[in-house]
Amino acid sequence: APKKLAAGNWKMNGLTASLAELDAIAARENGCDVLICPPATLITAAVAHSGEVAIGGQDCHAAESGAHTGDVSAAMLRDAGASHVILGHSERRTDHGETDGQVAQKAIAAHEAGLVTVICIGETEAQRDGGQTLDVIATQLAGSVPDCATAANTVIAYEPVWAIGTGRTPTNDQIAEVHALIRETLAARFSDGNDVTLLYGGSVKPGNAGEIFDIPHVNGALVGGASLKAGDFGPIIDAL
Ligand code: 13P
Repeated sequence: APKKLAAGNWKMNGLTASLAELDAIAARENGCDVLICPPATLITAAVAHSGEVAIGGQDCHAAESGAHTGDVSAAMLRDAGASHVILGHSERRTDHGETDGQVAQKAIAAHEAGLVTVICIGETEAQRDGGQTLDVIATQLAGSVPDCATAANTVIAYEPVWAIGTGRTPTNDQIAEVHALIRETLAARFSDGNDVTLLYGGSVKPGNAGEIFDIPHVNGALVGGASLKAGDFGPIIDAL
């Protein structure tokens, strides 16, 4: 069975003082897996504050090292103490033009470095309105997830772009439909596809986490804004 995971993506938020929130999140530990992905500048310090909480990066380069100013490799994240890395977040796809193929190359590099990848996929509002959601999800899944993916090294996060930071979420039926497609697709492609952890992300809050976690094939959440404060993220962990 898939492992449950409550994951927080701090995005470009967090200074040294924010590690106090991590201490408070670590103190909420209730037995389920918890992951916080702070900005890269905080990873080393975060590991010292994380207790049982896993620490991850938010992106990595596909190359192991070299002339790529400003980029961080998977081996560097691992060396800093990270165990996970988010890849293909819609903000990376939009801000930096990342393609499915590039995300897959990054995932291969991350797996080689011993990191668990949290690979993000999701439709835009125009694609949802155009009835293309399931096609988009199938295409992104096929292109972004490499052949070396296993239930042990890969987590998939469904994040509708229009639900990120907007306070809007799909209906439970819409989430269920997409998660069923992801599960079916992974089970057809990978021998352990039924055991891959599937997260929902996009405006998850303490008030809606419980009902979202009840949806079939939702094994946890990837949380942005509500992961910055232990007072918000704690109740989400508890709901899982
Ligand atoms: P919000 O929870 O702030 O909507 O962000 C979701 C997200 O993008 C997590 O990766």
